[in-house]
Amino acid sequence: MAASAFLRMLGRPISPSSFKLYGKGTRLLMPPSFRRASLAAILVLCSVACLHAQSITPVIAVDHGPEAVGQQQKHYVVMVSLDGFRYDYAKKYGAKHILALGERGASAPEGMIPSYPSLTFPNHYTLVTGLYPEHHGIVANSFYDPSRKQSYAIHDASAVTDGSWYSGVPLWSLAEKQGMRSACFFWPGSEAEIAGERPSYYLHFDDKIDDNERIAQVIQWLRLPAEQRPHFVTLYYSNVDHAGHEFGPDTPQVAEAVHHVDELIGRLQTELNALHLPIDLIVVSDHGMERVHGGYRSRQVCPAG
Ligand SMILES: [Zn+2]
Repeated sequence: MAASAFLRMLGRPISPSSFKLYGKGTRLLMPPSFRRASLAAILVLCSVACLHAQSITPVIAVDHGPEAVGQQQKHYVVMVSLDGFRYDYAKKYGAKHILALGERGASAPEGMIPSYPSLTFPNHYTLVTGLYPEHHGIVANSFYDPSRKQSYAIHDASAVTDGSWYSGVPLWSLAEKQGMRSACFFWPGSEAEIAGERPSYYLHFDDKIDDNERIAQVIQWLRLPAEQRPHFVTLYYSNVDHAGHEFGPDTPQVAEAVHHVDELIGRLQTELNALHLPIDLIVVSDHGMERVHGGYRSRQVCPAG
C-alpha cells in the first residue's frame, strides 16, 4: 500500500505533492492543521512499514500454540550452514569473524569428517539427525529407490516436501515434540513433515532470497513475543559451495565468497548480541571441496580430447 493510501486511512487525503525530500531523509511539508494527524500518520506508516518488513520473506507459519513455559527459560540455538565451506578456508582466506568465533568458543580446526557420500543433502540431514545416510534415508542428492520404484531429487519439490523419504528425528522435530518452537531459514528436510512435526516457521527453498534478508528474518523471529519465539533456528548460505563448484577451491572467486559469508556471520553476531538473549551460535559446513585433477571436465565435454 502506498504512503498516500495510509494517510487517507486517517480521513485526511494528502496529495503526493505534499511530500518533499531533504537530503538523506524524508520530511513531510504540511499545513499546521495536518500536523497532529500527520504525526499519527507517520507512526502508522512506521508501524506498517515494520509489518511490511515482517513479510519480506515468504515464511510459512505453523500454529503449534505457545512455547512451553519450561522451554522459554532455555538457551537459544542458531545453527548456520555454510555449504561447501572447506575446513581450511577460514585460515586460507582470512575469514576474521569465523576465526574469532572459533577462538572464543569451540572449533574443529582440522575439520569434521563428512558422512558418505560427501554431498549437500545427505550431510545436512546427518547434521540434524546424527544418523548416517543409510539410516536416515537421504543417501544422495538424487537417487532411485527400487523398493518404492520412485526417485528422490533435490530439485523435485514433491519429493523434498514428502516426509516419507526422511527417517530419524531432525532437531526441529525433536524441539517441537518437547513444546519448543523452531524455525528453519532453509535446511534439507525442513519443508517436509518428519516424525509427525514441522518447524513452527519455515520457507520453501529459494536461493534468490537476499543474504541479508535472511539475517533480518532470523532476528525478527528472535524478537517475537516469548511464547512465539523459536528457540532452535537454522540458517543456510550456498555462496561458497557455488563458487567452489564453478571455479575450484583455490580461486579468487572462492576467496570472495568466503569473505562475503564471513561478513554475514559478523553481522549476524552483532545483531544477535543486540538482542541480549542467551544464544548459542553454531556455524557448520556439510562437506569440503577438492580441485579437479586430470582434466575431468574437459573429458566430459569433449570425449575425443
Ligand atoms: Zn553442500
